[in-house]
Amino acid sequence: MKPPEATAPEPGRLRARLIPEIAAEGPMRVSAYMARCLFDPLDGYYATRPALGEAGDFITAPLVSQMFGELLGLWAAETWSRLGAPARFVLAEMGPGDGTLMADMLRAGRAAPGFLDAAEVWLVEASAPLQALQAQRLAGAEVRWAKTLEALPDGAPIVLVANELLDCLPTDQFVRGADGRWAERRVGLAPDDAGLAFGLAPLPADFAPPAAWTAAPPGTVVERSPAARALGEAVGARVAAGGGAALFIDYGDLDFAPGDTLQALRRHRKEDPLAGPGEADLTVHADFPGFLARARAGGAETPTGLGQGEFLRRLGIEARAAALARRHPEAAERLSRQLARLVDDDQMGALFKAVAICSKGFSAPGFEP
Ligand code: SAH
Repeated sequence: MKPPEATAPEPGRLRARLIPEIAAEGPMRVSAYMARCLFDPLDGYYATRPALGEAGDFITAPLVSQMFGELLGLWAAETWSRLGAPARFVLAEMGPGDGTLMADMLRAGRAAPGFLDAAEVWLVEASAPLQALQAQRLAGAEVRWAKTLEALPDGAPIVLVANELLDCLPTDQFVRGADGRWAERRVGLAPDDAGLAFGLAPLPADFAPPAAWTAAPPGTVVERSPAARALGEAVGARVAAGGGAALFIDYGDLDFAPGDTLQALRRHRKEDPLAGPGEADLTVHADFPGFLARARAGGAETPTGLGQGEFLRRLGIEARAAALARRHPEAAERLSRQLARLVDDDQMGALFKAVAICSKGFSAPGFEP
């Protein structure tokens, strides 16, 4: 499926479109800038040129190793079993990228009798080019697509996974000034060359800095993602109403942590987030505290989150790597490198976190106290 608006990517075009808009309407909230860079229908990164993998702009855990998706597949099967093995349930992935994670999950899921027969598989994807890639990658599997979580069928329990989705949900940024007052960081125009530049604007009238920010020294930047918060509430309400559990893996802190984490990645290199709007992937650290608080407000439970390394170890990644290495001795070295990349603290193991949103009283696999 190709949206009628999408055209060939043209470097510099989104920047050229944003400049007169900002000149006319004033500096943009960082969340609005991120939304345009990622999802502008004509020139947004995900709408026109998403490039995952070694040869693209960024790499993710399912592309590092098939073990990641296989373990998440076993997590989903065990979750289904703990839900009482319902005869029909929604198995959903949000932000499925090139489809690798779901392909690996479905392959691993065959080991659980009845699991795949009960699953109605849904992919929640906002990007048309990625949806096309997913259709290729998952050819032969019975999968359906939705553009939003709300469009998934209700009335059945849900088992949802999402990897590196929260980091692309638009965020706002706030800065504490030397006088202790907070201001909002916005994307405006540089004085001389009419390029893009960060500036400060007064706080929105309805916005009071939360208590957690009180101790922040001058110069502190704080981020909040309204989109992550709204998603947390929607996922919380969904699992509370129909039963189920959702697993989100992403990078960021589990507790409130100030800092400017807005980052653009092109060909695996960081660049100025204002340099090439729409041409590079643009991410922030996941707003886990806001996301999980709103999920609880939506009626769900959120067990204590943990590092990706600890989570994958609890699911048995070490035994899985050893079994694969026994079967394929020629790949042993590669497997041990992949394992280290996923679980070691100085690689993805500690920066990345796993969190869950569950219906009341449900004990999600890997999150047992
Ligand atoms: N999960 C994949 C891809 C991560 S990239 C992996 O781990 O490899 C982020 C993915 O989220 C892309 O598929 C992107 O198009 C999708 N996405 C971003 N925002 C979204 C939204 N609001 N709704 C649905 N999908 C979204």
